[in-house]
Amino acid sequence: MNDIKLALLGSEGAGKSAVLVRFLTKRFIGEYASNTNSLYQKRLSIDGRQLNLEVFDPCSQSGESRCILEEPLDWADGFVVVYTISDRTSFLNAKNILAQIKESRRETCKGEVPICLVGNKQDLCHSRQVSEEEGRSLAQENKCIFQEVSAAENYLEISNLFTKLIRHVMEQ
Ligand code: GDP
Repeated sequence: MNDIKLALLGSEGAGKSAVLVRFLTKRFIGEYASNTNSLYQKRLSIDGRQLNLEVFDPCSQSGESRCILEEPLDWADGFVVVYTISDRTSFLNAKNILAQIKESRRETCKGEVPICLVGNKQDLCHSRQVSEEEGRSLAQENKCIFQEVSAAENYLEISNLFTKLIRHVMEQ
């Protein structure tokens, strides 16, 4: 059994818990009380390998605070960085988080850090503040997997995204 540890990072309200709950339960939970750090576990089989997935969902990274980030940065094998396409501030915060992940892993990790950049709330594209192109180029600069999703509307895209990230972690 392989253990895979992922951490969800992003601004408060970006939809981290909604994305994760969608992946774990296939359901969208509109208001999810997440004022504590949460650790979720799920048994999965990917490419015939049995995996024990642990996902850390910290309560909030609304500030620039490094101390909130330090714990998941040290612990995780891979990261899901979430922003909201209708909130430019969350995109700028995602950019900072990517820089912090890279900086923290520079000395310890020879290969690429497996990261997935997620532009969430695609259903709110009428009030879009971040273009898909901007998301894609930030992901390319940081060698991340990228996709816009809607935790409110999609399961398949989110599931495929986690699967891609987990495969990337298994290749490391
Ligand atoms: P977190 O603080 O990053 O964990 O964010 P939450 O998962 O708690 O979501 C914050 C708010 O955004 C909640 O009111 C969710 O219902 C809402 N939300 C999350 N994902 C989506 C989405 O894809 N579309 C829409 N319209 N709302 C979403």
